Formats: sequence, structure tokens, C-alpha cells
Amino acid sequence: MPIFEFHCNDCGTDFEKLVFGSDPAVECPECHKTNCARLMSACNAKVGTKLTATSGGGGASCTGCAATSCSTCH
Ligand SMILES: [Zn+2]
Repeated sequence: MPIFEFHCNDCGTDFEKLVFGSDPAVECPECHKTNCARLMSACNAKVGTKLTATSGGGGASCTGCAATSCSTCH
């Protein structure tokens, strides 16, 4: 079963959730908003896929890996 990491854009909580297929509305366990962006668990996943929000600042880099610059992605 695929477990994806999500980041809540409202309260900043990171959480993991089982997702079957493409779950359209992932709810934050803290604030129960659905303004959550899926973090790619692997850097080689397509970052070009539009996530929920780009307001977090930048957003172009891969937020799913531990590296800040994520130079291994590209
Ligand atoms: Zn939240």
C-alpha cells in the first residue's frame, strides 16, 4: 500500500496517509483542512505535477527529500 507524505499548508503539519489511487481530498489530522500538498517520497518523481499550493515560497524544489537544495533531483 502506498503511503504518501503530506504537508498541510494551513498549519504546517507533516503527516503520512495511506492513499488508494488518487485521493482527491486529504484531510489534515490537526486542523482538518484539505489544503494539503502531497510530498513526493522519492526525488525522481515528477516534480512538475502541480500540487495543491505554490504559496509556500518557492515550491519549485523537491519538498519530499531531506536535501534543501535537492540537487540530485534534476
Ligand atoms: Zn493542518
